[in-house]
Amino acid sequence: LDEKDPQAVALGYVADTTKADTKKYPKHDKAQKCNNCALYQGKATDAAGGCPLFAGKQVAGGGWCSAWAKKG
Ligand code: SF4
Repeated sequence: LDEKDPQAVALGYVADTTKADTKKYPKHDKAQKCNNCALYQGKATDAAGGCPLFAGKQVAGGGWCSAWAKKG
């Protein structure tokens, strides 16, 4: 997934969670990553995996977006 993809921009997606815009997303924590997000479709150890918010694309395991949700 390209960070410049309009949907990625809309959700504040970054391929590296440490680069997230913390001013815009004060609840961001660098412990939050795609690979520990409830929506991530890859395995925790995968470098990249699917995400239902970005159909047909792969998000980085170490990435992040503002829809990050704690695994239940
Ligand atoms: Fe990553 Fe979760 Fe956002 Fe999908 S919803 S891009 S897995 S943080």
